[in-house]
Amino acid sequence: MTFPTTSDLSTNVPNTAQAWHTLTTEQALDSLQSDPEKGLPENQIQLRQGYFGLNELEEGKGRSTLEILWDQFTNIMLVMLIFVAIVSAVLDLRKAVFPKDAVAIFAIVVLNGILGYLQESRAEKALAALKKLSSPKVRVIRNGNPSEVAAKELVPGDVMLLEAGVQIAADGRLLEEQNLQIREAALTGEAEAVNKETNRLLEADAPLGDRVNLVYQGTEVVQGRGKVLVTKTGMETEIGKIAAMLQAVENEPTPLQQRMTQLGNVLVSGALILVALVVLGGVLRAGWGQFENLLETSLSMAVAVVPEGLPAVVTVTLAIGTQRMVRRNALIRKLPAVETLGSVTNICSDKTGTLTQNKMVVQRIETPSFSLRVSGEGYAPVGEFESTTTPYDAIAQVEVERLLTECVLCNDAILQQQQGEWTILGDPTEGALLTLAGKGGFYRETLNQKMSRVGEIPFSSERKRMSVICQDSEDWDKGADYILFSKGSPELVLERCTSIQQGEKVVPITEIQRNQILEQNNQMAGNGLRVLGFAYRPVATIPEIEEAEEAESQLVWLGLVGMLDAPRKEVRDAVLRCREAGIRPIMITGDHQLTAKAIASFLGIAEPGDRVLTGQELEKLSQTELEKEVDHVSVYARVSPEHKLRIVQALQKQGKFVAMTGDGVNDAPALKQADIGIAMGITGTDVSKEASDMILLDDNFATIVAATEEGRVVYDNIRRFIKYILGSNIGEVLVIAAAPILGLGGVPLSPLQILWMNLVTDGLPALALAMEPAEPNVMQRPPYSPRESIFSRGLGSYMVRIGIVFAILTIILMEWAYFHAQASGIQERWKTMVFTTLCLAQMGHALAIRSDTRLTVQMNPFSNPYVLAAVVFTTVLQLLLIYVESLRNFFGTHVLDGTELAVCFGFSALMFVWIEAEKLVYHLFAAKRLN
Ligand code: ATP
Repeated sequence: MTFPTTSDLSTNVPNTAQAWHTLTTEQALDSLQSDPEKGLPENQIQLRQGYFGLNELEEGKGRSTLEILWDQFTNIMLVMLIFVAIVSAVLDLRKAVFPKDAVAIFAIVVLNGILGYLQESRAEKALAALKKLSSPKVRVIRNGNPSEVAAKELVPGDVMLLEAGVQIAADGRLLEEQNLQIREAALTGEAEAVNKETNRLLEADAPLGDRVNLVYQGTEVVQGRGKVLVTKTGMETEIGKIAAMLQAVENEPTPLQQRMTQLGNVLVSGALILVALVVLGGVLRAGWGQFENLLETSLSMAVAVVPEGLPAVVTVTLAIGTQRMVRRNALIRKLPAVETLGSVTNICSDKTGTLTQNKMVVQRIETPSFSLRVSGEGYAPVGEFESTTTPYDAIAQVEVERLLTECVLCNDAILQQQQGEWTILGDPTEGALLTLAGKGGFYRETLNQKMSRVGEIPFSSERKRMSVICQDSEDWDKGADYILFSKGSPELVLERCTSIQQGEKVVPITEIQRNQILEQNNQMAGNGLRVLGFAYRPVATIPEIEEAEEAESQLVWLGLVGMLDAPRKEVRDAVLRCREAGIRPIMITGDHQLTAKAIASFLGIAEPGDRVLTGQELEKLSQTELEKEVDHVSVYARVSPEHKLRIVQALQKQGKFVAMTGDGVNDAPALKQADIGIAMGITGTDVSKEASDMILLDDNFATIVAATEEGRVVYDNIRRFIKYILGSNIGEVLVIAAAPILGLGGVPLSPLQILWMNLVTDGLPALALAMEPAEPNVMQRPPYSPRESIFSRGLGSYMVRIGIVFAILTIILMEWAYFHAQASGIQERWKTMVFTTLCLAQMGHALAIRSDTRLTVQMNPFSNPYVLAAVVFTTVLQLLLIYVESLRNFFGTHVLDGTELAVCFGFSALMFVWIEAEKLVYHLFAAKRLN
């Protein structure tokens, strides 16, 4: 075979625009100059990537810049500000003064719009970066070796391997398949999976859905396996042609963001009502002469009531949350998960790989006549067999020989040595079997020559077993052409056996032998080993997939293999943290109940008295009965993926907020149903990832607990700055309303000054509060309901209380400042004092609110240096507004002398003192309650 060189490629490019479904596999391979066994050589890949480009879909256009910008200005709060600006402009123009407030408000509206726009585009970029992190990998054959590459690196001519759960990364022509079924809903809308066939040739005009010898990008392998020649990549693929369908990280508003929008609406409506009341009431009392004054007051109140800075702070906090989580290996796919993770009450976790290391090492073998211990570590095929029953060389015995042969033949994994280290490609369970066989001197290379595979009945979590059919090599059975090898859950394989291998003979299996085998199985499982049963059967023909049940019967029992999958070290601790945090961990596994129980007990997931429920038992329960059980079961064993769905639903019916892990195709419904669906980053199928809210980049249970902690921190911080911002808003409104009631002339704060406070002096510290690290007790309290109102647990009353304290302090100062200013000549100075005090008091508030329970002196000021920096920076800005002439002119402030400034600082400090005093009182009561 010749491969095109660089110069060939420009003149003699492989033609990818062919009717591939009309070509035989040989024609297709020829056309793309590829090799079904070796794939493409390295130099070709780079050449072709250069020519065809990366296998990526161009991003959809999404919303245009103008649309994003427009959305910013249609936000109800900004609309109201624009309205306020217009009214204020009209008032100023009538007085023949320059409409400074109006211009400033407009400027701030525009600035806010631009900031919002920048934030949204940044958020989109961040999401795109996250998407890259979760971009799928593909198994290919290149340079004669199987390997894994990023999907975007595929080129036409690559040989791609498919297995159940994979989302296909490029269009291609089938070269081989075993029972391959593909769901093409993404492309054809047809939910039913399509059976694929390699050797069918089709007419050129066959519709897309009928082209059974082709596979398409974006579709999902539901069952079986296949080998595919990549024919089209990137935008050339069918899906690329129709539309750039992005499997983007979804960017939907979180429940909190929705509630914030609602809050905005309520506040705006409230503001409008307030304006109407002040104007109407004032006119009724004092007549139309006061109309303009009243209008000015009410406009200020309207601006004061709206927390202009809040939406931006919420968005930034959620973004920071996702970043913190990714640093701890949890990749958020759907933004709501960030804030709701903190509410999780139950974590339902798979065992293999999540709670355990997924590095299997076979430790024991039980054949009908031998009990063997196997030594060795990792996947290196180096170790000893030691017979615990008979002293002579057991490996040379037929029973053990056959068992090890089956370990190799009934196996899809690949054992390889890379840079001196033995690793596996594929299922670790199967990898361990290859290692075991290697220790006995049995390798695929030699066995395949004698007994090549001609058919298979694939593994699924429902069947819990798999079978392959190989050519017979005479020495197995004289009469049969083929041997069917079956391995899987010991109970299920044993059930299908009618005879047993004893030395060289095959004899009918007795009831006593069956019980003995089950006893051995229980004993190994009880020690936490994962046990597989092995059997075989000579067959005359290659059974079709539909005949699986019949084919996998009348088997000859060969033996049991027990492997250790050590629990992950960090999980025990993580389970403990869960319990302290009021979260109940639950193990859901396909493995044997005794294996599951042993590991669950070791990890602390199962406590004495907790029930283990098997899939079989679960099947017999009605949904209502299951709902009654779920609170007492901490281990579910031998379950199928559909049971997972029932378990989540039952827990949810009990009012639980459930996080659930999954990796297989069939786990997708349970992941969707769970409040937080969690997919595995390493072993998870693309389909499960697609259905998830979060991906564990390291497949580790401890990561779920870490993400939960971050979720709690995010939610705490959001509540913290809502308290901070809205408390101040209430204070401002009350102060503005109080001025005319107290008979002080004029409005104390102009709309411009209020905007300054809400956006800058409130906004910056609020952003800093969003960075607050976890409170020490964050994982020592029960989870909060995700359905609780934001105002629950004292937040509403805090806001009102602090708002009133704010107002009282400022009003006392206002009274003093008013008369002081009257006496000093520059009457308007009292307004600057009110403005300054309100701003500075918020600085004290920001420092004190960092913790609900700990006094500020008890906290390290540098554990959140942002708050300190924001407070210093904002205070300096505020002083500039008073002491820099141009700013003074713009903001309508006046210079304060030393005494006045000191009074402002003094009154502001009282705010800090008040909040600290509240904490002291709280401690006093808490201590009393404890006594
Ligand atoms: P978890 O759900 O915690 O990941 P699991 O990995 O044991 O647990 P499955 O992969 O569904 O769950 O396996 C269920 C059972 O199927 C296993 O206990 C084992 O008996 C059998 N089994 C697993 N892998 C294979 C395989 N490659 N070939 C044959 N049987 C297997």
